[in-house]
Amino acid sequence: MAYSLTVKKINKYFGSFQALKDISFTVEGGKFVTLLGPSGCGKTTLLRTIAGFLEPEDGEIYFGDRLMNDVPPNKRNTAMCFQSYALFPHKNVYENIAFGLRMRKIDKEEQQRRIAEAIDMVNLIGLEKRMPYELSGGQQQRVALARSIVVRPDILLFDEPLSNLDAKLREKVRVDIRRIQQTLGITTVYVTHDQAEALAISDVIIAMNKGSIIQMTDPRDIYDRPDSRFVADFIGSSNLCDGLILSREQDELVCDTCYGRLHVEIEKGQFEGIKKLSLCIRPEDVEVLGYAREGADTKGLKNILFGKVEHSVYMGSSRDVYLSVNGSTMRVSVPKQQYYEDGSEICLYAAPKRIHAMMTEGER
Ligand code: ATP
Repeated sequence: MAYSLTVKKINKYFGSFQALKDISFTVEGGKFVTLLGPSGCGKTTLLRTIAGFLEPEDGEIYFGDRLMNDVPPNKRNTAMCFQSYALFPHKNVYENIAFGLRMRKIDKEEQQRRIAEAIDMVNLIGLEKRMPYELSGGQQQRVALARSIVVRPDILLFDEPLSNLDAKLREKVRVDIRRIQQTLGITTVYVTHDQAEALAISDVIIAMNKGSIIQMTDPRDIYDRPDSRFVADFIGSSNLCDGLILSREQDELVCDTCYGRLHVEIEKGQFEGIKKLSLCIRPEDVEVLGYAREGADTKGLKNILFGKVEHSVYMGSSRDVYLSVNGSTMRVSVPKQQYYEDGSEICLYAAPKRIHAMMTEGER
């Protein structure tokens, strides 16, 4: 049975600098949780605190029901995968993977069985006798992964494991990490600053900034329903603006914004008593209806905007168009086949249900 992980009111200082501020969360057993945030926000500090390499000034860490604060790192039964792989340079693949099992004095036959299983899982069959310097970066990371899972850890920890790999390989290895984690059902904590990686791999994302948790939810929610400008900006691309509420219906607001007047769909009764909001409009959620000069059919839609194309960027699978809308820049993502000349006027539609409203800092 997989262990849950509970972190309760953790504070960690380096001298007078507070690296972790009142961190609390629980991850269900067998889930994959990602700590995501900008450089220096405290991700690695939190991971190392969970592993026991750092001692928090206060707070508690539980694996299942067991309080771990006084358990030394080598007795916590965690396994950590680093970006630097940290393989033994003078041991071959097999010996690197076997090391943890030998230290734990697992009997020979069981060792062989587990190592063969792990080598198969990470697709390293045939490379058992190779030395680390005879392996590519991706293969070295697979050895590190096999070495971690072979000891059957209660909690698997990853610290930016894919940072040294090229983009293509990163995608491949992350699929393998996820597949293996799901097969084994090990509770996993994964550190990255790569938001695409976090969205692709996680059951739960914990967005962090300046030592605090900003939001914790599943990938879909964190992208579609960020609850702060920080998260909306850090995860994915967004057009962020202030919205001054001019009028409200039960499930819709009319806001004055830098792009003009916008209707925003909300849940019934949401933002009661609030005058000002932040709005997030994802570039892929704005539809281009056509050139303004051609008189696009707006079919009585709310939120029709007009923009002048400033420039476009070809992205391969799509095209990003930067427009001036009411004097403010808006980024819109269109299919790559669509091209609009710089300087042309185009007609846009931002569906009220695709505009996401959030409380502005200070209004919370
Ligand atoms: P990155 O993505 O760049 O690795 P991170 O989110 O993992 O960043 P941490 O390594 O956890 O960030 O560091 C959090 C903060 O604590 C940083 O400001 C860092 O400079 C500081 N810090 C980390 N370790 C120490 C230390 N041993 N002594 C003093 N300050 C430290």
